[in-house]
Amino acid sequence: MESNYDVLVVGGGPAGSTVSIFLGKMGHKVLLLDKAKFPRDKTCGDAISGKSRGVLRDLGITEIVESAPHSKVFGVGFSSPDGTYVDIPIPQNYGIDYGYCCKREVYDNLLFQHAKKFATVYEEHEVTDIIKEGEAVVGVKALDKKTNTEHVFKAKIVVGSDGATSIVSRKLGLGESNPDHLCAGVRAYYKGVTGLGKSIELHFVDSLVPGYFWIFPLENGLANVGSGILASDMKKKNMNLRDETLKIINEHPVFKERFKSAEIVGGWKGWNLPLGSTHKKAHGNGWVLLGDAASLIDPFSGEGIGNAMTSGKIGAAAIHKALEAKDYSEKFLSEYENNLWEVLGHEFKNSDRMQKTGKRKWLVNILLHKAKRSDWLRKQLSASLLDQKARKGFSDPLFYIRALLA
Ligand SMILES: Cc1cc2nc3c(=O)[nH]c(=O)nc-3n(C[C@H](O)[C@H](O)[C@H](O)COP(=O)(O)OP(=O)(O)OC[C@H]3O[C@@H](n4cnc5c(N)ncnc54)[C@H](O)[C@@H]3O)c2cc1C
Repeated sequence: MESNYDVLVVGGGPAGSTVSIFLGKMGHKVLLLDKAKFPRDKTCGDAISGKSRGVLRDLGITEIVESAPHSKVFGVGFSSPDGTYVDIPIPQNYGIDYGYCCKREVYDNLLFQHAKKFATVYEEHEVTDIIKEGEAVVGVKALDKKTNTEHVFKAKIVVGSDGATSIVSRKLGLGESNPDHLCAGVRAYYKGVTGLGKSIELHFVDSLVPGYFWIFPLENGLANVGSGILASDMKKKNMNLRDETLKIINEHPVFKERFKSAEIVGGWKGWNLPLGSTHKKAHGNGWVLLGDAASLIDPFSGEGIGNAMTSGKIGAAAIHKALEAKDYSEKFLSEYENNLWEVLGHEFKNSDRMQKTGKRKWLVNILLHKAKRSDWLRKQLSASLLDQKARKGFSDPLFYIRALLA
């Protein structure tokens, strides 16, 4: 089978569904392929930030998400290696005063089903290779898993939004990940964890910093629990991340109390987080990469859904222009990568600095001790949740002097 589309999108996670919806709405002929049958799970903390909410608003589907099972999040709790806990509210003066926790099985399915209104969608189609004509990518080969037959699909532009292990990226020779720019993560669902509030909790426990152990409250008393650590640190420590997380749950003085009556629901799952602390090439002749395939996860917080959706929105605008101009060249599509890094580049830089600062455990201890007592420092931390200027302050030595004196 051979078909011709304007745009062929590989992978229907937040990045792929977002780009498909925007492009379909603009009147382009879009084909979206995913190897999974939806609803499907995705290993994640399930925290949906204000940035994602902004794109959901642009897509016009806020109400659809809000009518599905989720919890609303009004703050971020941080604890230091020595156990000091500070709850920082999401600031109220930025127009986005809460986020969500929503199981990816639910959230991704809502986006994916909505994409079906604007694109031709084939589930259970696993892309196995890209097709090139000269230097240009012009299509893909995909295996229909239901019939075990191979199909060829062609398009003017191929979008790789197929996640952390992207086949599109690998076939383009861009698949290698540097363990200094890759985070390993594990997560499980628990019921019966005590002390859940309206904040997501990031605990910078000794063994994981600058990675952290998290507890994110979902609906009906369920919690998404997990840990993330830089892949290079995990290797150096020869750590089994699931065992380390269970050790935190069973032995840490605070968490063993909170998990005393808790029960795991399902099992543990692990997956990688490709970080935006490195600038990966994300466009070329006839192709662009979005989301995790383009290594766009925040190097400090681990947030990737908002950046994946943002890349889908920016990607759609650049692809629309290329289709209008009938120019699918690397040069023309460079607008996508330039605009993307214009928006996300400074965030990645700030977060990379925060990740490096976080390696100094003593500094994290002092900062959170001070934040407990200082209104000024709590306000700074609160602003930094949404404001890049405030976040940039964390790389200014004067900030630390002021914080130490606070
Ligand atoms: C443990 C962990 C915790 C995390 N916690 C958070 C969090 O709380 N908040 C947050 O914002 N981010 C979090 N992230 C990051 C977030 O999960 C990702 O950044 C986000 O899923 C990226 O979206 P995406 O659309 O690029 O890729 P994905 O969501 O991975 O979607 C890729 C899609 O491509 C499909 N696909 C893959 N290969 C093929 C193929 N060969 N052919 C066809 N289809 C294919 C897959 O089936 C999938 O549907 C976490 C990540 C991990 C690993």
